[in-house]
Amino acid sequence: MSTQSSPLKAVRGTRDLLPPETALWNRIEQTAREVFARYGFGEIRTPIFEATELFARGVGEETDIVSKEMYTWEDRARAQSEKAQSLTLRPENTAGVVRAYIEHKLGERGDLQKLFYIGPQFRRERPQRGRYRQFWQIGVEVLGPVSSGSESPVRDAEVLEMLATLLDELGVKNWRLELNSVGSTEDRKRYDAALRAALEPVKARMCEDNQRRAETNPLRVLDSKEPADQEIIAALPKIADYLDEDSRAHFAAVRAALDACGVAYTVNPRLVRGLDYYTRTTFEFTVPSSFDPASGLGTQNALLGGGRYDGLSEMLGGPKAPGIGFAIGEDRLILVLQEQDGSRAVDAPHPEWMWAKKLDAYIAPIGAECNAAALALARELRRTGLSVEVGDGTFRLKKSFDAADKVARNIVILGEDEVRSDILTVKTFATGEQTKVARAELAKALRA
Ligand code: AMP
Repeated sequence: MSTQSSPLKAVRGTRDLLPPETALWNRIEQTAREVFARYGFGEIRTPIFEATELFARGVGEETDIVSKEMYTWEDRARAQSEKAQSLTLRPENTAGVVRAYIEHKLGERGDLQKLFYIGPQFRRERPQRGRYRQFWQIGVEVLGPVSSGSESPVRDAEVLEMLATLLDELGVKNWRLELNSVGSTEDRKRYDAALRAALEPVKARMCEDNQRRAETNPLRVLDSKEPADQEIIAALPKIADYLDEDSRAHFAAVRAALDACGVAYTVNPRLVRGLDYYTRTTFEFTVPSSFDPASGLGTQNALLGGGRYDGLSEMLGGPKAPGIGFAIGEDRLILVLQEQDGSRAVDAPHPEWMWAKKLDAYIAPIGAECNAAALALARELRRTGLSVEVGDGTFRLKKSFDAADKVARNIVILGEDEVRSDILTVKTFATGEQTKVARAELAKALRA
């Protein structure tokens, strides 16, 4: 009987990222790190799994993320000192960062904590283009005791202005900032009551999910994408009419600071976002041309989202620590950049780092007996900082030239004569020029 089995594949909703595309991921992460550093952010790395309770309390039991999308398992005790525990792969990183803030008593340092993270998150969503079960987020959190100024609208505006700068520096075109205020916890309570009252007579006409949300968490009805329910949703009360004086003033100050910086935005009164912890400022950056349904990308048009979470630390048993943060969907950012680059708008030159860079040199040994010498030469050149590939002496010259032309700017021929004389033949593909170069001069010549 044949024992051959079918090859294993990556799990549905997960994928491998391969070169040269990974160069683009690295470039994006590097740019983000550079921009964040200019604004005084430091990196935090939290575990990929946490106690399930963290997300239940932090993100909210009634959110789609917690109620339907988490990867949760019962972790058995392996020793008497351990307890069985329900664990979950993190579906987002804010709860973990705030847990770490509390655990390490970062608030006692007294100053504002400006933290960023880059890493994978996990949600069991229906996979489609731009939506995966393992996806990457680049995010920041700004939080601290009230005395550190963590509640100030300046913080909100600074974070938004930084995002505008980051997207511009990455070369993302046509982004739009949508902004709203969901008010304080008290404002939300009054709004919640108004929403329930308004939904009562109409909810029977809505889809099953929205009927459930109308009961459990009416605010969630507002981010429903169900086409048939949009008319009802549009007629529901607006949060702006339920903000108290302080929340109104806070929102006005955020907008004034953005105006002063020249960062354009649109106020979207329905933007409440899918997580329970948000208070006051909420926002999304979208790229309308890119994730438009006509282009086959579905409705995944939000590139990033975020907002203020003034009560989250207390929800997790910590001290009062108002804060604001965002998470960029890195997978979507890549899709946007690739797509915008593919369209090659004349007035929007693509950044050159979109393309894989060629190596400085390909060393072609002539004959297997030159392989060792080729490797030694490569070592010498690589140690000067050059990028080098080494061929194989068993290749015929034509095969070496073809291989070299694909990956490198120059080919260096290394036969027995060259090993003996220390004079090498170098051909530069772009010009077709072929020259003899002394070994001592080689690194300089290749760098030119
Ligand atoms: P959220 O944490 O839900 O506010 O999402 C923030 C950003 O993460 C979104 O704007 C998306 O760009 C990205 N994102 C969320 N869920 C997914 C997913 N399943 N696949 C890819 N990106 C996602």
